[in-house]
Amino acid sequence: MTDAVLGGLEPSAVRVRFPPSPTGLLTVGNIRSALFNWAFARHFGGKLVLRIEDTDTARNTAEGYRYTYDALRWLGLTWDEGPEAGGDFGPYLQSERMDIYADVVAKLMAAGRAYHCYCSQEELDQRREAARTAGQHSGYDGHCRNLSPEQVQAYVDEGRRPVVRLRMPDRPIVFDDLVRGEITFLPENLGDYVLVRANGYPLYPLVNPVDDALMEITHVLRGEDLLPSTPRQIALYEALADIGVGSGRTPRFGHLPFVMGEGNKRLSKRDKGSGLTEYVDRGFLPEGLLNYLALLGWSIAEDRDVFTMAEMVEAFDIRKVNSNAARFDPKKCEAINAAHMRLLPQEEFAQRMIPFLATAGVLPEQPSEEQLAVLRAAVPLVQERMNTLSESDEMLGFLFVSEDLFTVDPDAAAKVLTGDAGAVLDASAKALTDVEWTTEAIEAALRASLIDGLGLKPKNAFGPVRVAISGRRISPPLFESLELLGREKSLHRLERARRTT
Ligand code: GLU
Ligand code: ZN
Repeated sequence: MTDAVLGGLEPSAVRVRFPPSPTGLLTVGNIRSALFNWAFARHFGGKLVLRIEDTDTARNTAEGYRYTYDALRWLGLTWDEGPEAGGDFGPYLQSERMDIYADVVAKLMAAGRAYHCYCSQEELDQRREAARTAGQHSGYDGHCRNLSPEQVQAYVDEGRRPVVRLRMPDRPIVFDDLVRGEITFLPENLGDYVLVRANGYPLYPLVNPVDDALMEITHVLRGEDLLPSTPRQIALYEALADIGVGSGRTPRFGHLPFVMGEGNKRLSKRDKGSGLTEYVDRGFLPEGLLNYLALLGWSIAEDRDVFTMAEMVEAFDIRKVNSNAARFDPKKCEAINAAHMRLLPQEEFAQRMIPFLATAGVLPEQPSEEQLAVLRAAVPLVQERMNTLSESDEMLGFLFVSEDLFTVDPDAAAKVLTGDAGAVLDASAKALTDVEWTTEAIEAALRASLIDGLGLKPKNAFGPVRVAISGRRISPPLFESLELLGREKSLHRLERARRTT
């Protein structure tokens, strides 16, 4: 099994890559590719190379690079070579490799593996249309493959500037995809394609395989959307090997299944739920998000959805990736995250809530010892109830917010702080004034006063107290909440709520 993947390679010689463009956007599809490459490299003890595909400099921004590095770090997808890590195969930004591409193209031209094409767009369109009408294949027709020096001179005299095309082999290209099995592309579907634009701009189908070759990448694991470029890239790897560029070895490919969104359409970067930032802001745990993304094509075992990244690394097998399109299910994603929330040690859980409570403005970024003690005590009350960290404020904000900023949700007030509520709040305040301040004593006092004394059902008894002290109809358990809030604030809030009834 392993050898079918490694093909005789030492496991530690595995080199995979993640090559994002620094657009300032990583989608769940990109991250799934990064994750599978990372797990593959870690499984074998090989290397993950981060390469930035930024030849399209108009689209790059300084923030785009920073965002990419920060996002991968947040996810914990560490890279062994690349920007900010160094390595022997740099530079790792394609924008700094332009001389390399020009040199490789010159060599391909000199060896006759690539050639200048002078056809204008109108000429190409016309001939394509004619071929289509005649029922023939409509790719590039090889018009400029064998121009005579006179023809070339004539074009040059006309002021035409050529593109560079790769001369494709006249035979099928067959490869054994690690996910999809054997795939064959017929030559009639593989016209000579453009490597370099007329303005000298080197294109993705050139720079991506050139860098894979020079960086000695052994396995290319990427989305199925890139499958059509693979036979062309394989032809280029072969040409590069012939002219002595790179390791001389064509990488093995594995194309990861499409990720489908709503309505069974491919998830696009414009779709809600497709961008990483949304998950960071919503308080997903990186391990929860990654666990869910791993399930888009892979599973650790039947009937088992929740696992750690260490377990994934241990078990990861690219041959077990399913080639069928995977459906992105936001609910399941949240449920997997919730499972990871429950797995966190309590102290860790408390620490991870702090930034969210700080963003909500109820805790400073560095809470006092006293605040930390309350937070730690509150964790066991909420850890089982939260799906994401962004629920921190909703759940626990009332314990930390200052009295002048504390508010009661108007909807909760309208529903609960009516009718008998005034009497309930009066009786509660009275019962809590002198009671010993422990959960048990608080509970006993309130039950005696509201249920035995006023003869209320628990819902009608405790609902108004909950809304008064937490500001919401849903809160952590009431008696514990009162204890953590303290007598003074509790009485103050009961009193405030009383005034509004
Ligand atoms: N920069 C390309 C992308 O992000 C790389 C694709 C590949 O893995 O070859 O789509
Ligand atoms: Zn041409």
